[in-house]
Amino acid sequence: MKLKQRDTRIPKSPCPYCGKMLDGATSYEGHKPSPGCFSVCIYCASIVQFDKKLRLIKVSDQKLKHLDTEEPRFMDKMRFYQRLVRDLDRRPPWEKQSEKPPEKTDV
Ligand SMILES: [Zn+2]
Repeated sequence: MKLKQRDTRIPKSPCPYCGKMLDGATSYEGHKPSPGCFSVCIYCASIVQFDKKLRLIKVSDQKLKHLDTEEPRFMDKMRFYQRLVRDLDRRPPWEKQSEKPPEKTDV
């Protein structure tokens, strides 16, 4: 998969799950966040959603279940990003490959 990274500033708001402040969003497909879009918290890898003012809100289990059924490919993608985030957090520097890690942003 070819990844095209795009960083967008969003109004500062806390992750509804872990409480860390997020003021940017990174898309690996060149998307800009818009109301109703889903995202993955860079800190805790939870699936979150943008509200009308691009603040982060929780996604209910019911909604996730619905997406699993209706949009399995979309959910596969979200899980891929969750793994990506978890790998970012877990890998200690000495275990990192020679590849350049993604730019650390305050997303
Ligand atoms: Zn979080």
